[in-house]
Amino acid sequence: MDCLFCKKVSANSKSKEHIIPESLGNTDHVLPPGIVCDACNNYFAVKIEKELLEQDYFKSIRHRNDILNKKGNPIPGKGILVHPEGGKVDVYKEGPGIIGINSSNEKLLKLVENLTIRKLYIPIVQEPEKDNVILSRFIGKVAIEALAQRLMNVDGWEQEVIYKEGLDPLREYVRYGNTKIKFWHYHQNRIYSELDRFVDTEEKIGPFEILHEYTFHYSEGYELFFVLAIMGVEYAINMGGPNVENYTSELKNHSSKSFLDVSHEKKATDNSAWLY
Ligand SMILES: [Zn+2]
Repeated sequence: MDCLFCKKVSANSKSKEHIIPESLGNTDHVLPPGIVCDACNNYFAVKIEKELLEQDYFKSIRHRNDILNKKGNPIPGKGILVHPEGGKVDVYKEGPGIIGINSSNEKLLKLVENLTIRKLYIPIVQEPEKDNVILSRFIGKVAIEALAQRLMNVDGWEQEVIYKEGLDPLREYVRYGNTKIKFWHYHQNRIYSELDRFVDTEEKIGPFEILHEYTFHYSEGYELFFVLAIMGVEYAINMGGPNVENYTSELKNHSSKSFLDVSHEKKATDNSAWLY
């Protein structure tokens, strides 16, 4: 077997590849060892996912939504103690409405303890920073892996994914970064609030939160778009080229409705049990 990204022999590779990082709450979307070789797997973990998860927005949503890190610990948020002698601290949720703080600056903690400082400001980062190369490479990585996942049980899938020349520019952009293409544009917009909860009218389950979901969309011009939503923000790329204008016009023709199949997912109006 050859690796999905570097196309080197990957038969002896041992790691499973998480299409979406575990640190974003993913346990389901996993590729078996060998689809992505250990070297590529490790490259993505260190150079793409770790960098992405360290960005203010992603740190902030992991904290806000109580997603634990790989070791099972909560991610601290950032807070600012408002006072002439104040400063930045880590904040932890200790219970409903109860916030704990921590800092290596003991003097700061003392000022809070003796109530000299009484004001804590917690900035909410709403969306990832724009024109974000790491995010763009991450979306591309997820797109190629999701395509492999979708097709890998079909005869001849390797030709459609691993050896598909049309996918090489995206493959090289996400795996090596130093290609002719400096930036693979993506479309970004919020489709629901990260606080929204949903019920599934087919399965009759809910309310639940949607951490992430994805789909593919073939345009009328046979371009393949990949659409990924993470905690309510949707990202879309064109898998065949670095421009996304055609997607934006597709979206307009679709009454600006997301291509994600949410037909049986309804927004829950409250957090009590299943009501529909
Ligand atoms: Zn590889």
